[in-house]
Amino acid sequence: MTAGAIAKALGGRKAGGGWTARCPAHDDRTPSLSIRDADGDKVLVCCHAGCDQKHVIAAPKNTSDIRFLR
Ligand SMILES: [Zn+2]
Repeated sequence: MTAGAIAKALGGRKAGGGWTARCPAHDDRTPSLSIRDADGDKVLVCCHAGCDQKHVIAAPKNTSDIRFLR
């Protein structure tokens, strides 16, 4: 799974060095979710609205293999 694949699954778009998409864990009207590729086939995800990571990854099935790194 790549950041781009996840972003596309969420209807996101490319933004700078990563991707941005609407957060699946809250009622997001503007893209709050930042998605980018990281080392080791991992994908970094951060909701700027402050959603709990577990809620973000639990929301859509197609992002169930996202790994969070901090
Ligand atoms: Zn969120």
